[in-house]
Amino acid sequence: MKYLTVLFFIFGSISASHANKCPEGHFPVRSHPRNAYTKTDGTAVSATQVKEQCRPYRTLKKPEPIFTTISPKNWPNPNEKFKNWTKIQEIKVRAVLEKLPKSITNIGKITLLRSTEKSINPSVSNSENQIIVIYDSISSHDLSRVLSHELAHIYWDSLDYKSKEEFRTTAEWKINRDGQTLSLQRKKVSIQDSYNGPDEDFSNLIELYIQNANNFKDQPSLLKCLENFLK
Ligand SMILES: [Zn+2]
Repeated sequence: MKYLTVLFFIFGSISASHANKCPEGHFPVRSHPRNAYTKTDGTAVSATQVKEQCRPYRTLKKPEPIFTTISPKNWPNPNEKFKNWTKIQEIKVRAVLEKLPKSITNIGKITLLRSTEKSINPSVSNSENQIIVIYDSISSHDLSRVLSHELAHIYWDSLDYKSKEEFRTTAEWKINRDGQTLSLQRKKVSIQDSYNGPDEDFSNLIELYIQNANNFKDQPSLLKCLENFLK
């Protein structure tokens, strides 16, 4: 349920020189290629190289939902139109944001859009600008689950390498023989698109955990790991 899905992960080493250059309160994101992105309309996006960069550590700020119809800058589908939110819809979103764990909701401004496009996915998100787009197919989904899933994507993209590595290890993502790609070895996988990558798996698990932590009572280490992420 994210418009860009990372299918492959390349493990490199953190450049010490770059790490040293990051200002206080920031962490280095290593340079890595991203291959085979898939948009919601099914089109593949060619590989890109993500440059080394410094990202700020998360700081918790009360959620500020912004309900808008204005198309975000550089939105991948330039023809996508957005419609007005009704007051009832806004109230429902605000109520969900109040109930979900602060670790995923307290990120400051969250831009919320209602698309006029038809999509089998109830939602997509963009972490960089903290945007969540909702489609009409939301009517057959649970709003709380959908928002927790998208907010978990935004959360994942704000985590540093060590935290991501902790999740990958506990959730049983193993490096393949090529030394570059990962595969999911965990026996219990409830949502099939978890196999797309650790980020999708993370969102699915956070969504399931918030819905009912008992889903994980037979997986104590994974339960503990998810609890820690939502502390
Ligand atoms: Zn997703």
